[in-house]
Amino acid sequence: MEFETRRSIAFIGSECYPFVKTGGLGDVMYALPKALAEMNCDVKVILPRYHCIPSKYQEKMVYRGSFNMDLCADGRSFYVGIMEYVWDGVVYDFIDNDEFFSYGNPYTNLVDDIPKFCYFSKAALAALNYMNWVPDIIHCHDWQASLIPVMLRTQFANTALWDSKTVLTIHNLRFQGVYNIPTLKYWTNLPDDVFNIDVFKTGYEDANMLKAGLAYADIITTVSETYAGEIQTPFYGDGLDEHIRHHSGKLRGIVNGIDVEQWDPANDPKLSTPYDISNVLTQKRGNKKALQEELGLEVSDDKFVIGLISRLTNQKGLDLVNEILPGLIDGNTQVVVLGTGDAVYEESFRNFENWFKGSVCSCIMYDEGRAHRIYAGADALLVPSLFEPCGLTQLIAMRYGTVPIVRETGGLKDTVQPYNMFTNDGNGFTFDRYEAGLLYDAINRAKTIYFTDRWQWDEMVQRDMAKDVSWKASAEKYRDLYMELKPNY
Ligand code: ADP
Repeated sequence: MEFETRRSIAFIGSECYPFVKTGGLGDVMYALPKALAEMNCDVKVILPRYHCIPSKYQEKMVYRGSFNMDLCADGRSFYVGIMEYVWDGVVYDFIDNDEFFSYGNPYTNLVDDIPKFCYFSKAALAALNYMNWVPDIIHCHDWQASLIPVMLRTQFANTALWDSKTVLTIHNLRFQGVYNIPTLKYWTNLPDDVFNIDVFKTGYEDANMLKAGLAYADIITTVSETYAGEIQTPFYGDGLDEHIRHHSGKLRGIVNGIDVEQWDPANDPKLSTPYDISNVLTQKRGNKKALQEELGLEVSDDKFVIGLISRLTNQKGLDLVNEILPGLIDGNTQVVVLGTGDAVYEESFRNFENWFKGSVCSCIMYDEGRAHRIYAGADALLVPSLFEPCGLTQLIAMRYGTVPIVRETGGLKDTVQPYNMFTNDGNGFTFDRYEAGLLYDAINRAKTIYFTDRWQWDEMVQRDMAKDVSWKASAEKYRDLYMELKPNY
């Protein structure tokens, strides 16, 4: 029998479903710890206690203690409270401080966010010390937690935490936490020698928090193998490609999964007609009808309904969508958009809805329930991203028997196998170069199969629902990584 020692892991990041979520990071911070706990890992998740966390969770938090912590270069110190909530085998510890977390959304603007996450990173380590909990692994996520590997090896070098190893996961390289050096020096009080070109320094006089974390982390991971390769190139590297190439020996790509209980069409209270793989072909119709009614679209089973659920930013390929959308509306096609983001896209989708009333619906909002109903009611889901570290919407779509139409980049390439009409396999429709014509062509290929070879379409729907998009395989890879990083001796 194989002998395995249990691993303890502290997950540290800026958002986590269901407390606070703005995108995929929130899903991962919930689902991966849960999957690891099911695999007998000991997991704590450390998060800011934002004011916007719903009161039903706030009320259940239990006070674990508090202390004052030195933070700034001039000796300014701050209160750190620890509020705890245990759920599904995972311990959530919320860092409490009204000065930083009492207003607005998790992210506001860099002027406020830089001090906020400097404070949070140090407070998370100090809280581990305070609780006397030395995890084998400290797993940090994105720039908001990327100071942790640096602080651990400098300011916390003489504490018990020194024995912990660090993993830093890049969920999106576009966001790096860049600000001027004097401000970062003030808010971190880190030693001068880390503000050099190999760690923090970037450009003429800026400091880059993610860059520093990448230099100091024991292991870097990112959320798909393809993206791990892409970020070493100038186009996808967002200015850090050379730095990442330098550290590529400790870089791994592990694709995300989704939580298959949170996303389960057979057991989804947000749906009018739940379904599974055995009855999807008939039951999905009920969800399509309900969606058309909810959104004021023409109610008809004969329409090809395309969904788009996304932050509305240029990362998501919306320029391509804007270019081709009028050409899609042919009397047989409906388009449903759900998202918020840049004003230019919010405006263009509102215009499309006005121009094509009954065929296009643009929901410029964040609405978890509506997202579920679009995944269930649409026939296809569009993800034409310029870049996509992993992407979760294509995974959720497949789980709901909705065929993804994606650009072959990052995790989209790793998770959607293109449809092959000769062998009748694959999970969706794909295109490679970032060109509107190619997206248009991919959608038309999908429509052709849908309208003329319906049995092939239906088989693809069932293949998608049968595909394993759960966390299981990937959580095992993370666990193996933790085992490797902290050998049993
Ligand atoms: P990213 O992290 O880049 O935003 P992902 O595809 O990794 O993209 O994750 C997006 C997550 O956010 C999915 O769970 C998706 O359903 C959800 N989502 C995005 N926009 C909305 C919205 N407007 N309303 C509800 N859920 C949304």
